[in-house]
Amino acid sequence: MKPRVAVTSRTEMQSRGPYATVNRNYLDSVVRAGGLPWILPPTGDEDDAGLYLHNADGLLVTGGADVWPPHYGEDPRPEVTVCDPARDRWEMALVKEARRRGLPVFGVCRGLQIINVALGGTLYQDLPAQVGGPVGHSPDLPMDELWHRIHLEPGASLVRQVFGRDEAMVNSFHHQAVKDLAPGLRVTAKAGDGVVEAFEGTDGPWLAAVQFHPETLTARYPEFVGLFAGLVSAGR
Ligand code: MN
Repeated sequence: MKPRVAVTSRTEMQSRGPYATVNRNYLDSVVRAGGLPWILPPTGDEDDAGLYLHNADGLLVTGGADVWPPHYGEDPRPEVTVCDPARDRWEMALVKEARRRGLPVFGVCRGLQIINVALGGTLYQDLPAQVGGPVGHSPDLPMDELWHRIHLEPGASLVRQVFGRDEAMVNSFHHQAVKDLAPGLRVTAKAGDGVVEAFEGTDGPWLAAVQFHPETLTARYPEFVGLFAGLVSAGR
């Protein structure tokens, strides 16, 4: 049986009203990895997280707007303008419930950030303002274009398994990043400026997350399917 991967979605205002949407690249990438994707609502009663995950074999936390800074104890900086606090709360509840149930979790971009915050970490709200490092992280490029290198940390990890080398090229569409890593996580890849580009869980159910967007690369660069295959095989 194919592992069933629950995929988080977002609320998007369209001319006919609010739509629940997910970039189809996530679904296609799960299919390419041998999984069976299905879409969760963008918000929900946190008490229902267990009901939603009851039939899931894994959770994919997708990208989107900035995490609302009060969720990690900070006031929003002026550079932070688009948040969805209800989606944040819902996804943090889903992450915690998935962990309780022993389900594997994979996060992408905002998904990495929400996992870190859900487990007790904090974020840089705006890299140019707060870090100002020598690597650009938000080029004006199509999402299937590679942009900067990542340096893989020593030791076995999903990214090492997928890339099989010390460096890889990834895309980059983010202005926030991990500041304090949550307990129970370890960094598995960084950009040249030290920005966290991937982490994994150190104990408990399988958990991995990346700051780049592999879902938009799996068609052009099939090796990125391996990241989704990690989630799917953990869900078997
Ligand atoms: Mn980056």
